[in-house]
Amino acid sequence: MDQGPTPFAAPTDRRLALEDSFGRRFEYLRLSLTDRCNFRCSYCLPQGYRKDASLPPELSRHELRRAVAGFARLGLWKLRLTGGEPTVRSDFEAIARDLSGVEGIRRIAMTTNGYRLTERAETWREAGVHAVNVSIDTLDRENFARVTGHDRLPQIVEGVDAALDAGFDAVKVNSVLMRSLEPEGWDKLLGFIAARPVSWRFIELMRTNDNAGFHRLQATAGDAIAEKLRQGGWTPLDRATGSGPAVEYAHPGFAGRIGLIAPYSPGFCDSCNRLRLSSRGKLHLCLFGEHGVDLRDLLQEDRQQDDLVARILAALPAKPRAHRLHEGSSGSTPHLASIGG
Ligand code: SAM
Ligand code: SF4
Repeated sequence: MDQGPTPFAAPTDRRLALEDSFGRRFEYLRLSLTDRCNFRCSYCLPQGYRKDASLPPELSRHELRRAVAGFARLGLWKLRLTGGEPTVRSDFEAIARDLSGVEGIRRIAMTTNGYRLTERAETWREAGVHAVNVSIDTLDRENFARVTGHDRLPQIVEGVDAALDAGFDAVKVNSVLMRSLEPEGWDKLLGFIAARPVSWRFIELMRTNDNAGFHRLQATAGDAIAEKLRQGGWTPLDRATGSGPAVEYAHPGFAGRIGLIAPYSPGFCDSCNRLRLSSRGKLHLCLFGEHGVDLRDLLQEDRQQDDLVARILAALPAKPRAHRLHEGSSGSTPHLASIGG
């Protein structure tokens, strides 16, 4: 059977010192480069980005490099550059290049709304980015414009093709499940992945502090999709190490895969392998935690690395066993753009 995009194997020679009280090991850092964004996704920033003058500035290139070097000393080897929209930063390429040169970092992925993908895919690949996730919630042009505030679906799809041509070793699509989009699009989706070796991953809509009303109206579980896939002859694949929380399905008639990320399903947090650093320098142990641990004061000089490592290690025991979304608590997270979804 055609297995579609090749899963990336974890290095076997790394010393992984980042382990929490529940035996979970952390090899993966999601790094938010900015909380700014040019889109207005209905579930994230429906009014668009609004500057909060009370916040400290975004981490600089040098602060980012020192932060990543500290985590890499503890065996962490995989990064995701996210935001906000990470590519609104004019130094995005320079950051990717810096981070790909940090000792121990083996893999850099990025998540983007794709608005610059067509023109920049090759440059980002050359700058050291290995994999790209593009957000496309619907393949219906009008609905895309309604959800994101931008009539740019054709441009984003062109960007996905540019990413495939540029030789990224994985191209994935993130697609948030919403009740109002349910009746549409299954055939369009199958057409999209028939010849494209992309992994299309549905993500259950998560409640945040700002989107409670929207979530109440729009949230829908992924079970129906899993059932549809099974009935259509799609086979669930074994999860590769470091591959994250998606359950992926393959079908011999399709180059692409379909995956499901179901944060509300039981045991979702048991295999959590990720930590997050916000664009303002706070280490977040959970996407839906109460507050972060500030690292910025230890990112000012290279000689502070031992103290940085000690602070990261001291923070880990506070990582909760699981998020409390089921109880209606999204911690202190107003929207995912704020700490890097
Ligand atoms: N701006 C980039 C983008 O949209 O791809 C990166 C940041 S965005 C916060 C990262 C991912 O989180 C996107 O795929 C987005 O669709 C998803 N996301 C944002 N808010 C969400 C929510 N409330 N529930 C589920 N996924 C969400
Ligand atoms: Fe921007 Fe991404 Fe949030 Fe959409 S999901 S508003 S593109 S940060």
